[in-house]
Amino acid sequence: MSSTVQSDPAEKMTSRQRVLAALARQPVDRTPIVNPTSVATVELMDFADAPFPSANREPEQMAALAATGHTVLGFDSVMPVFSIIQESSALGCNIQWEQKDNWPTVRMREPIYEAPSDIQIPDDFLDHPDMRCVTEAIRILRREFGDEVAIIGKTMGPWSLGYHCFGVEPFLLMSLDDEQKTKECLDRLKEATILSGLAQIEAGADALTLPDHATGDLVSAEYYQRYLQDLHSEFAERLPAPIILHICGRTVDRMGYIAETGMASFHFDSKNKPEESMAAVDGRISLVGNVNNPETLYSKGPAAVRAEVIRNLEAGVQMVGPECAIPLQTTIENLLAIKAAVLEWHGATAPFLETQTDAGA
Ligand SMILES: [Zn+2]
Repeated sequence: MSSTVQSDPAEKMTSRQRVLAALARQPVDRTPIVNPTSVATVELMDFADAPFPSANREPEQMAALAATGHTVLGFDSVMPVFSIIQESSALGCNIQWEQKDNWPTVRMREPIYEAPSDIQIPDDFLDHPDMRCVTEAIRILRREFGDEVAIIGKTMGPWSLGYHCFGVEPFLLMSLDDEQKTKECLDRLKEATILSGLAQIEAGADALTLPDHATGDLVSAEYYQRYLQDLHSEFAERLPAPIILHICGRTVDRMGYIAETGMASFHFDSKNKPEESMAAVDGRISLVGNVNNPETLYSKGPAAVRAEVIRNLEAGVQMVGPECAIPLQTTIENLLAIKAAVLEWHGATAPFLETQTDAGA
C-alpha cells in the first residue's frame, strides 16, 4: 500500500523544510500537504494495527497511526493528537473513550467546574497518562522520522477547554452574562494550553495546532475580539514554535483579527471560500485547508477532491489539507487524491514556481 504514495524527483526540500517554510510564508518547491488535525481512519488503523481507543491512549499505538499520514497518505506532516480530549482528561473531565469506529468525547453533561476558583491545574498535569501519551508519541515520531517530516502537536485553547470543563451551554451563558467572570476562567484555563504546548515543543514538535472552538455558529466576530484575540496573541508570544489556530465553521468575519495575533497560520473550514479568506488575511498569516470533509472527502470521489485542492492552489493558499479532523470512514483513495492533485498542479505550472522563488518573499 505504501507504494501508492507519489513523490517527485524534482523536489528540492524535505517535507519538514517545506512545511516550516510555508508556515512562515516563505518560498517552497511545491505546496505542502498538511494535516493540522487528525487524518486517522479505520482503514489506516487496520493498516498500522493501531485502532482507537488504544491509539488515543498508548504512545506506541498513537505514533504508529500518526506515521501513516506520511508513509501511506504522503502528507508532509504527521499529527498524533487525534482527539480533542487529552488536556481535558488530565484536568479531570470524564471521558467516554469509545471504540475503534468512534471518537472519544468529554461527557459535558458532567461538568467539573462552576466558577473560576474551581479551575486548578493539577501539579502533575503533565504526568497524567493522557498527557504523557502525547509527548511520548511525539518523541517516538521524532526518532523515527528525524528531520524528514514536520511533526505537528496540538494543544487545546481555553475557549474549548471551557466548553469541556463547564459544559457548552453554561459556558456560553456565562459569556453572555458576565464578561469579567468569563475572562477570569479563560485566564486560568490558558495555563493548561501553555503547559501542554511547551511540553510538546520540548518533546520535538515542530509546530502546534491550537483549536479554540469560537465557531462561527456560536460565537460572533465581536466576541472573538473581546475574549480571544489578546489571549491568542499571548500564545504566539509564549509558545516558541509556529502556531496553527483551528476554528471550524464560517470565520471569515474574524480572520482579520486572527491575522493580527502573530500566530503563523489559520486552519480554515470550507464554509469559507479560499479566495475571500486569502483577501481577509491579506498576507499577514498563512492559511491551511480547506478540503470539505462531510461532503467531499467522505461521500464524493477523487475528482471532487481534486477540484477543491486546485481551487485552493489557484487562490494561493499556502498549505493544502482537510478542513478539520476527517471522518473515520474516509477512504484512503480520496486522501491520496489530495497529493496527486498538488503534484499535478505544480507539474503544470513550473514557471509560476520559479517566479515565486525568485521573488524571495
Ligand atoms: Zn474543526
